[in-house]
Amino acid sequence: MPLSLAKRLDVVQPSVTLAMNARAAELRATGVDVFAFGVGEPDFDPPSFVLEAARNALAPGAKPGVSKYTAVTGIPALKEAICKKTAHARGWTPKPSQVTVTVGAKHALFNLALALYEPGDEVVIPAPYWVSYPEQVKMFGAEPVPVPTTEATGFKMTPDSFAKVLGPKTKAVILCTPSNPTGSAYDESELRALVEVWKTKSEAYLIVDEIYADLVYDFPHVSAATLAPDARDRIIIVDGVSKSYAMTGWRIGWSIAPERIAKALDTVQGQSTTNATAIAQQAALAALTGPQDEVAAMRDAFMKRRSVMVDALNTVPGITCRRPEGAFYAFADCRGLYGLPYKGKPIATDEEVAFFLLDEAHVAAVPGGAFGAPGYVRFSYATSPERIVAGVASIKAAVARARG
Ligand code: PMP
Ligand code: GLU
Repeated sequence: MPLSLAKRLDVVQPSVTLAMNARAAELRATGVDVFAFGVGEPDFDPPSFVLEAARNALAPGAKPGVSKYTAVTGIPALKEAICKKTAHARGWTPKPSQVTVTVGAKHALFNLALALYEPGDEVVIPAPYWVSYPEQVKMFGAEPVPVPTTEATGFKMTPDSFAKVLGPKTKAVILCTPSNPTGSAYDESELRALVEVWKTKSEAYLIVDEIYADLVYDFPHVSAATLAPDARDRIIIVDGVSKSYAMTGWRIGWSIAPERIAKALDTVQGQSTTNATAIAQQAALAALTGPQDEVAAMRDAFMKRRSVMVDALNTVPGITCRRPEGAFYAFADCRGLYGLPYKGKPIATDEEVAFFLLDEAHVAAVPGGAFGAPGYVRFSYATSPERIVAGVASIKAAVARARG
């Protein structure tokens, strides 16, 4: 018998978003034209000057040392650019010593989990939540405490529902706005009310995942760090280039944390990955410091696609979909499809809906249960309007066939 695996993994689920992506890729490899509404990944290329910066870093005679180990927490120029972006977007200039450049924002969250959570700690996570939050908390023996929200409140916490879950064991709160998976975003007054509750009722850290901050369509994005200047010693911002600059595979994210925590993250990373890839850091630097018009164009394209996806989904009998304020996800109530025949049985779960969509409509989408919201399915609209229209038409046809 092989020796056992570490027990800490017994409670951890694999990433369902990535699993659905892998299943769609398998189907695609057999020649099927799969509609990619599964993984949250822009279909655009990064801006051309980003690619050029990476090529320049690799070119013969490139700056000496450009592709060697960098400082563990990132090259100074990138950290400086992150601070400038923060000043511009959030009206607050952190110090470069607060920044840790990581291998994607997921890695920033993982490093934070390793540095902060331990058995006995609770981490408050509004539901629906992004799949990796609770699993990372569990990996370190702490307890995720979901705060249920409903479509009736726009999948947003109310100050009352938030206050109820904060307690002496709360080590951190993870807030994602705009949200993956629902696309919901807090406006300034809603967020201010929550920040007040957190500040007055809790000693916990507030981790704000702002990876979709450039993608709010109905009002300006506001950061908790902007609203609570007196509590920045407890606020940690997580961000990255994956979504705004269409750079998912480049794996560059970062955290901006109080210096005491940033020092701990330096130690964690210095004993694990060392620096994020040097070439990718050069590319991220170009992304942040270059012209931002392509980012604005991608944002406008996502905004148009939002209407295309939501309007189309709402024409499918059995599916209803709220209009989200941001990100690139439509989070649809699919309980109206329950009862349709699939593989000789009536559909009874969101997971079965997702498999039905994949097998019968060749649409990859992620079941809501993985996000703590059974009955729903997440459709990413980070793909062309033509594909969105054709994919939803394929769903409609599959549903009509199943209804007989
Ligand atoms: N946070 C949220 C809410 C996400 O949706 C994602 C992934 N799409 C990440 C963090 C991680 O992003 P990455 O690791 O690609 O930077
Ligand atoms: N976060 C993206 C998603 O939710 C990418 C996949 C992942 O990192 O889990 O689809």
